[in-house]
Amino acid sequence: MTEPMTRNRTIRRVVALEVAMLAAAATASRRNRLAAAGLVVAGAAGAWAAFRPGSPLFGPVLSRGPSGSPRAALTFDDGPGPSTEAILDALADEGVKATFFVLGRQARRHPHVVQRMRDEGHQIASHGYDHGILVLRGPGHVRDQLTRTEEAIEDAVGPGVLTHLFRAPHGFRGPATWAAARSVGYRVIGWSKGVFDSADPGPDVVAERSARALRPGCILLLHDADGWDPDRLRAHTAAAIPDICAAARDKGLELVTLDELVA
Ligand SMILES: [Zn+2]
Repeated sequence: MTEPMTRNRTIRRVVALEVAMLAAAATASRRNRLAAAGLVVAGAAGAWAAFRPGSPLFGPVLSRGPSGSPRAALTFDDGPGPSTEAILDALADEGVKATFFVLGRQARRHPHVVQRMRDEGHQIASHGYDHGILVLRGPGHVRDQLTRTEEAIEDAVGPGVLTHLFRAPHGFRGPATWAAARSVGYRVIGWSKGVFDSADPGPDVVAERSARALRPGCILLLHDADGWDPDRLRAHTAAAIPDICAAARDKGLELVTLDELVA
């Protein structure tokens, strides 16, 4: 297995590629300079698309549900982790079902939490196996991330539980990501609004940003764990759940799973 590619390493490599292309363009003969400039522009467009989660250049991404019905979806990435059960407790108290984009690596660590997600009616989807960035990865690697996650979920809860929705780590995608995910039956999912709960800004801030973001069709991005630090708590997110659910009720919104939102 290859080491997961971190965000910073991926960005450094993409920047190095761009610089190399610029240098090639600068030293190209006059005749080739226009073609080289075209390559640089294409490279820059590719980099922009890769790091912009909702960008359609590398394949369609579902980033919102229909705005015509009063429904929205809470989605949680990176778990299960040490705070996931507190989040499940809070969702149970509110009677709300959510969608969890689970990491295969974390499902191996906390299979009983994946069982709890299933038992309590939440939707389980894929965030890949180890949270490695996929921008510079080929189709075989992407498929491997997905199938290893399937195996981990299946070992935890049996077959037929994981829904074939995939959210790439950080939403970053490369030229191979969408086609590889499609080839093994996945739909690529983004989000309408992230509230940066991963920076632990305090429960009130998480709740207030969420309340502002919630509207019909909204796919809200939250985190029940951390993609890079499996022991990190998401206590602020867990503590914000009651206020997020109250804000949805105040706006007349029903909080549903992604399958229900886009059905
Ligand atoms: Zn993530």
